[in-house]
Amino acid sequence: MRIAVVGTGYVGLVTGTCFAEVGIDVTCIDIDQQKIENLKKGILPIYEPGLEEMVLRNTQKERLSFSTDLATSIQGCDAAFIAVGTPPGEDGSADLKYVLAVARAIGQHMSDYLVVVTKSTVPVGTAQKVRQAIEEELAARSANLAFDVASNPEFLKEGAAIEDFLKPDRIVVGVASEKAEEVMQKLYKPFLMNGHPLIFMDIPSAEMTKYAANAMLATKISFMNDIANLCEIMGADVNMVRRGIGSDARIGNKFIYPGIGYGGSCFPKDVKALIRTANENGYQMRVLKSVEEVNEHQKSVLFNKIMNHFQGNLAGKTFAVWGLSFKPKTDDMREAPSLVIIKKLLEQGAQVKAYDPVAMKEAQHLLGDTIQYGKDEYEALIDADALLLVTEWPEFRSPNFTVAGKLMKEKVVFDGRNIYEAKDLAEKGFTYYGIGVKQPV
Ligand code: NAD
Repeated sequence: MRIAVVGTGYVGLVTGTCFAEVGIDVTCIDIDQQKIENLKKGILPIYEPGLEEMVLRNTQKERLSFSTDLATSIQGCDAAFIAVGTPPGEDGSADLKYVLAVARAIGQHMSDYLVVVTKSTVPVGTAQKVRQAIEEELAARSANLAFDVASNPEFLKEGAAIEDFLKPDRIVVGVASEKAEEVMQKLYKPFLMNGHPLIFMDIPSAEMTKYAANAMLATKISFMNDIANLCEIMGADVNMVRRGIGSDARIGNKFIYPGIGYGGSCFPKDVKALIRTANENGYQMRVLKSVEEVNEHQKSVLFNKIMNHFQGNLAGKTFAVWGLSFKPKTDDMREAPSLVIIKKLLEQGAQVKAYDPVAMKEAQHLLGDTIQYGKDEYEALIDADALLLVTEWPEFRSPNFTVAGKLMKEKVVFDGRNIYEAKDLAEKGFTYYGIGVKQPV
C-alpha cells in the first residue's frame, strides 16, 4: 500500500515512519522546505526517543521519503493523512486553516480514488468541511473523482510516541463508507497483532473521541491539583492520598499525580476548543471551565511558594531550573510550565540558570540569553539560591544531594513534580517544598 502524510511534525513524522516500519510505502510532505531538506539528510526536526534510527532505517529501505511536493506525492496513494497543526484561534476554537489548505491542495491534485484521513485533532464537523473543500476544488477543474473522508484521531504521547503508535491501546477510525473502512482496516492490520482494538465508528463520534480523551486527562490532572492544594491547607499529604485512591480499580493509579499544571501542545488547546465548540452550540462545559481555572491557578503555585520563602524579594537571587520541556523525553516546549515560572522569576529581578537533557536548543530559541544555561544539572546549581524541579526527567530523580548542597548557595528545593521525599531532603539539610505534601518537622 502507499500513503502520503501531510504535515511532518510530531504526529506526521511518527505516523509516516511507523507506517513505513510495517512495510507501507510512505511520503511525508511538509511546506517547510528546510525541514524536508534536513529530513532528507537524516536530520530530524524534533526529539523523540527511537525515532531517528527508525527514520534512517526506513529511508535506507526506500519505504520512507520526504517531499514538499504534494501534487506528485499523492499520486497512486490509497490514503492521504492530514497531520498539520490545529492551533487555538483567538477565541479558543481550533484554527482549521492549515487542515483546509491541505484539503484544497488534495482536491486540486488528486487523480484517482483516495481516502482523505484527518489525523489532526479537529472539532466535530471538520470532516464535512474537508469533504466540501475537496469537492469544490474537484468541481473547479470539472474532475469527476470519487473519494472518501475519514477521521483517525491520534493518541500518541510525546516521549513515548513510537511505542504508542506501534502498540496502541486502541485505534479509532471514523468512516462513512465501506470502501474507506476497508482501506483503513488494511492499513492498520499490522498494528493489531497483539489484540489492540481497531474501533470503527461514525465520523463525528471519532472527532469527538479525541477531545473527550484529552479533556478527561486534563480533568484528572486538575482534580488532583485541587485535592493537593487542599491537602496542604488541611495538613494531609497528597502522595499518601494518591496511593490510597489509586488502589481503587475504578479510579486507577495512572494520571493522578499533582504538579504545576498541564501544558504542552494538546491539553490546553483541546480543552479550550471543546469549551468553545459547546459554547457555539448552546451548551456550557461546566466541568472543563473549572479544569481550566484550576490549571491557571496551579501554574502559580510553585512561584507563590518561592515568593513566600524569600519574603517576596527575589531580586538578585539565582534559581537553578531542572527541566524545560513540558514533560520528560521530549524537546517540546509549547505551553511548558517552565516558561511561565521563568517569566515570573525574571519579572522579579531574579536570575535563572536552567538545564534540560534535550530541550536546551528549543529553550535558547524561545528564551535567548534572558537566562543562563548549565552544561549539566550540577553546573546549573552553582551558587543557586534554590533548585526548582520543573520537569521530571528520569536523570533528575536520584541526584547526589550531598554534591548539590555543596554547589548551591542555599539548600532549598522547590519540587514541582513531587519526585523527591521531603524527609530525605530534610535529613540532608535541605528546606523542601512539594505540591500538597507536608513540610517535614
Ligand atoms: P507540529 O506543529 O509539530 O507539525 C505540524 C506540521 O505541519 C509542521 O511541520 C508544518 O510545517 C506542517 N504544515 C502546516 N501547513 C502545511 C501544509 N499546508 N502542507 C504541508 N505541511 C504543512 O504539530 P503536531 O504536534 O504534530 O500536531 C499536529 C496535529 O496533531 C494537531 O492537530 C495536534 O493537536 C494533533 N496531535 C498532536 C499530538 C502531539 O503530541 N503533538 C498528539 C495527538 C494529536
